[in-house]
Amino acid sequence: MGELGAFLKIERRNQPERDPESRRHDYHEFVDVLPVGELQEQGARCMECGVPFCHNGCPLGNLIPDWNDLVYRDRWREAIDQLHATNNFPEFTGRLCPAPCEAACVLEIREGDAVTIKQIEVSIIDRAWDEGWVLPSPPGNRTGRSVGVVGAGPAGMAAAQQLRRSGHAVTLYERDEAGGGLIRFGVPDFKIEKRLVERRVRQLADEGVELVFGCEVGTDVTVEALRERHDAVVVATGSRVPRDLPVPGRELRGVHPAMDYLYQRNRWVARELNGDLQPHAPEPDEADRITAAGKHVIVIGGGDTGADCVGNSLREGAASVTQIELLGEPPAHRPDDQTPWPRWPVKLRTSYALKEGGDRDFAISTTHLTGDADGHVAQIHWVQNSGVPPFEAIEGTETTRPADLVLLAMGFLHPEPALLEGLGVERDQRGNVKAGTYATSVEGVFAAGDARRGQSLIVWAINEGRQCARMVERHLAGLPAVDPRETLSLGASERFGSDDMGADPPQKASYAGGTGTGD
Ligand SMILES: Cc1cc2nc3c(=O)[nH]c(=O)nc-3n(C[C@H](O)[C@H](O)[C@H](O)COP(=O)(O)OP(=O)(O)OC[C@H]3O[C@@H](n4cnc5c(N)ncnc54)[C@H](O)[C@@H]3O)c2cc1C
Ligand code: SF4
Repeated sequence: MGELGAFLKIERRNQPERDPESRRHDYHEFVDVLPVGELQEQGARCMECGVPFCHNGCPLGNLIPDWNDLVYRDRWREAIDQLHATNNFPEFTGRLCPAPCEAACVLEIREGDAVTIKQIEVSIIDRAWDEGWVLPSPPGNRTGRSVGVVGAGPAGMAAAQQLRRSGHAVTLYERDEAGGGLIRFGVPDFKIEKRLVERRVRQLADEGVELVFGCEVGTDVTVEALRERHDAVVVATGSRVPRDLPVPGRELRGVHPAMDYLYQRNRWVARELNGDLQPHAPEPDEADRITAAGKHVIVIGGGDTGADCVGNSLREGAASVTQIELLGEPPAHRPDDQTPWPRWPVKLRTSYALKEGGDRDFAISTTHLTGDADGHVAQIHWVQNSGVPPFEAIEGTETTRPADLVLLAMGFLHPEPALLEGLGVERDQRGNVKAGTYATSVEGVFAAGDARRGQSLIVWAINEGRQCARMVERHLAGLPAVDPRETLSLGASERFGSDDMGADPPQKASYAGGTGTGD
């Protein structure tokens, strides 16, 4: 274990962040890490608990106390092996995960005192890349079986890597010009620089995964051709249908789903700032361009998609940015009567973007939007509500604000249906692919990530990709979906989401502007 009693004498030190005023003028990552010596001290704080609740908090089951200890002992080479044992892309989670492991850490019983697990994770993987320890790992054998994975987000990438390393021929289809899914086209460069995503895509190629990008399955490749080509198919197409705002004026120009804006901003950075380093799409036509420059921007939705819209709008030089949230303001501290440790605390979080600028308002219901003579949005009209369902309007609180750009960041409903209909897979009540054990209702077709569980977190997507790959392997080997031996050792992963057992790594992490949720 770390140093005996170190948590009593060494304070937790958060990850350093660049100054919000200066960072809002560039697109570089704003989070830094502590120097090695201090990180080791932070690793020493881990008590290597007999019952490590951090494990329960992590959807991937990361071996957290093991690598905390290895960092403390300066054994980084072994630490990366431990980290990779459960996580294909720790630099994604180490940068972007809301860290439910820290909320569940035993030291977090004293709120704000958890081991800095996420910071240690990202330091291990960044060092491993710097030292040249992360190498392609192509399979030593070939099974002669072929799998088509549709969607190159974190779920598809993890599934493709696992399946390829087991010796299958794997083709990864992606309709965008580059891999990474929402990590590439939703999350901005200032949260994760895209060279890091590109590096992992290249690793897949070097391991022998065939990458077919710019190819929409169901259109550019027919479903019949896909089924014909592969012994099994994994659907990892994400959950991309945005929740809409059914109010008068929604049809005005200048009102857009958040992802339309974020795609354009990420492509702009790839094209204008990263030049030839990354694949990039051409600039959209003038009429289709969405920009916040010089505008009064309203972001509807208090989650992280909204925060990413705020961060981009500020960098574009918006005249003003306001983020509004339907729900009321949560408590400042963990409400122990509602979400006690080790549960994910529903509490007020201030996003990185709001630290950089902009305003936010809670308990707001948009009533309508009005426009100018050209049919462009010009004002938003809202009313204060009760903050809890059914969000009753409070009389006399009607407000009108200027709005030249309105971004709808109110979450996502379910995966796009066309491909699912083409494949003939059953869907659940929410419209997600019904695939309890990753196998869908159609023989040989599997599903993973947001397409299966609804819009969620990167850590869940990677976990689903890995687990789905395992189920595909069982299918290809002609084994039953459930290994009878596993019922004897019901583990943490089976308990995820079960309220009565007190283990609840969040589906979505933030509430009103935290880190790491899909809304
Ligand atoms: C703006 C934003 C910010 C977020 N920030 C965070 C964060 O900070 N931390 C966090 O943990 N989570 C975050 N999330 C959530 C997280 O990004 C997702 O949960 C995760 O990316 C889901 O992975 P996935 O592989 O299932 O799907 P996706 O990442 O959505 O990838 C699906 C891929 O499938 C492709 N595809 C779809 N249909 C087809 C087709 N027919 N043919 C070929 N390709 C197809 C898509 O183009 C896409 O590349 C954020 C989400 C958004 C929207
Ligand atoms: S719960 Fe916290 S202190 Fe205990 S093993 Fe996990 S990281 Fe270490």
